[in-house]
Amino acid sequence: MRPKPPPDYLANYPSSLTEPVWRLIKEKRLGEVLLRKYPLAHEVRSDKALYDYVQAFKNQHMRNAPQPSKVGFDAKLRDLRQALGTHTSIVRVQGGKLKNKREIHVAALFREMPEEFLRMIVVHELAHLKEREHDKAFYQLCCHMAADYHQLEFDLRVYLTHLAAGGEALWSSPAVDLPPSPKTDD
Ligand SMILES: [Zn+2]
Repeated sequence: MRPKPPPDYLANYPSSLTEPVWRLIKEKRLGEVLLRKYPLAHEVRSDKALYDYVQAFKNQHMRNAPQPSKVGFDAKLRDLRQALGTHTSIVRVQGGKLKNKREIHVAALFREMPEEFLRMIVVHELAHLKEREHDKAFYQLCCHMAADYHQLEFDLRVYLTHLAAGGEALWSSPAVDLPPSPKTDD
């Protein structure tokens, strides 16, 4: 059985944008180019830090959107096709009423990335609190929160392409020793 080809994260972009990326991969220079553009990893490493980061964005731009009931990094989101996050609406019965619970799960992969990429995924997920589909209204909301949203999404997809092509993770920092996170599973 042959292995499945990696997903093409750049499938929806014109070749004028994607050809330089494929060329850099071939020349084994894409990692270096990405690191030059985004030299620093962010420091949002825990679920608590992510919650605060999301909340600050929400307070600034989306005060009236529904409050997510849960925010966290999700190690189960391993499939890179899901790395753009999921937006789950869980319908629960509370006190005889149906309640729509919204949760923001960010793939654990984003724990070790530049702040710009984390911002992109958080903006994407916050926009889904108001708009479910990836339509015009959705992207307008994204650009309202991050004016360079489209560039950031493209650059993130370039990084995922780098990983899918067998490239090394660029922002993982073995120098930073993280204490083991306490088990808070309920
Ligand atoms: Zn989405």
